[in-house]
Amino acid sequence: MSKYDIIVLGSGPGGYVTAIRASQLGFKTAVVEKESLGGVCLNWGCIPTKALLKSAQVFDYLKHAEDYGLTLKDADKDFSKVIQRSRGVADGMSKGVQFLMKKNKIDVIEGFGKIKPGKKIDVDGKEYSADHIIIATGARSRELPSLKQDGKKVIGYREAMSLDKQPKSMIVVGSGAIGVEFAHFYNAMGTEVTIVEFLPNLVPLEDEDVSKQFERSFKKAGIKVMTSSSVESLDTSGKGVKAKVKTKKGEETLEADIVLSAVGIKSNLENIGLEDVGIVVDKDKIMVNDWYQTNIPGYYAIGDVVPGPALAHVASAEGITCVEKIKGLHVEAIDYGNIPGCTYASPEIASVGMTEKQAKEAGYELKVGKFPFTASGKAKAAGTPDGFVKVIFDAKYGEWLGCHMIGAGVTDMIAEAVLGRKLETTGHEVLKAIHPHPTMSEAVMEAVADAYGEVIHL
Ligand SMILES: Cc1cc2nc3c(=O)[nH]c(=O)nc-3n(C[C@H](O)[C@H](O)[C@H](O)COP(=O)(O)OP(=O)(O)OC[C@H]3O[C@@H](n4cnc5c(N)ncnc54)[C@H](O)[C@@H]3O)c2cc1C
Repeated sequence: MSKYDIIVLGSGPGGYVTAIRASQLGFKTAVVEKESLGGVCLNWGCIPTKALLKSAQVFDYLKHAEDYGLTLKDADKDFSKVIQRSRGVADGMSKGVQFLMKKNKIDVIEGFGKIKPGKKIDVDGKEYSADHIIIATGARSRELPSLKQDGKKVIGYREAMSLDKQPKSMIVVGSGAIGVEFAHFYNAMGTEVTIVEFLPNLVPLEDEDVSKQFERSFKKAGIKVMTSSSVESLDTSGKGVKAKVKTKKGEETLEADIVLSAVGIKSNLENIGLEDVGIVVDKDKIMVNDWYQTNIPGYYAIGDVVPGPALAHVASAEGITCVEKIKGLHVEAIDYGNIPGCTYASPEIASVGMTEKQAKEAGYELKVGKFPFTASGKAKAAGTPDGFVKVIFDAKYGEWLGCHMIGAGVTDMIAEAVLGRKLETTGHEVLKAIHPHPTMSEAVMEAVADAYGEVIHL
């Protein structure tokens, strides 16, 4: 039986990053993977969707070339080549992880892993043991009884990013990041898209101002938006799909070629030996402490299988924290209040910390500032004046409670707020940190200035 210091079950951004950090720390490490290295993120999530969205953006530029004084005739797309490009990018990234495993002398064990008592793991009949076993098996598309996926007419995200043929019409159910990214992509490609959201706002976890602006942009782009609505049942017996949708005004029947279910995720917890080992699971998540230890010594869990935001950067950070703690380093527990969330539709959304509503409910007195991109020279020059930056400070001590952005490229701007908050920066310091001109990032400085009555360009 092969013996390791650490075996990681699953090689997503949780698992493979954990394995690399473990190896850096001197642990003899192996990672077990049943599919492709890189997990959902590299193969079926973050990366291939961003490749699709890039094609949508380029196509959009081509369609609007005249706005930039350029003449271009007959801009068109080749849907299968768009998909092919995305798959190629994903494959390349997965190969990159293969290289990283080799470089860091991590053994990759291919197959389905099942943990066993005694800190052992069975991979397709072969047994391995380790001092520490880290479960990072991730998640998959959640199925609702009213939205049973058949992979053809009722699909999940995997099919949505690998369809052979572009549907003429699509109903997207759910308006979290995954739902709106696909809604934007298919709409930009020319599919007629309807998005159905159960809650009153699109991207319901975001600050209400952001959600409202986002909804306006989606409607302007030609997407049919149905909020406070839910799909009750589907009829797939005909050529396409008929969806019965309950709305505030009554029931409506929608017809489309395809329904994309984007109603959340379900952890991969089945048949991996949790019951045999006695690991506690609650509400579809493995229970862990601040150091990702389960209730059974020697077994840990990180990433989408534990509570907290299901995001790649969170999975990676959890894994790093977990192995650094195992090593005995002085480690800080992750601050789940300072995790950025990004949505890469058009316009993009990026946020960190509390929304205005949450900050008010928490009893803070607030200083709120907002700077619209219509007043930004860079945004105007780029032809992307939609959106704004909104900052929320505690009026008493100046703590930066939240930052919410919507607009072109904001997903690359949110790290400033994350770092500022991590360093317990005050608004004054952000104001005195000179931001380059002309950039979209000036909007952060101006929004802070607005909060303190010092805004220049409004
Ligand atoms: C369409 C989509 C877009 C997304 N976009 C973003 C984004 O832009 N930014 C972001 O931060 N997050 C994004 N996410 C979320 C992100 O992909 C996940 O949060 C992240 O992949 C979780 O990492 P993980 O390591 O926990 O699990 P996963 O990435 O799910 O990896 C788990 C791995 O474990 C393997 N595995 C499972 N069970 C076993 C077993 N028994 N034996 C062996 N191997 C096993 C699986 O095959 C898989 O490779 C997106 C998700 C989706 C679906």
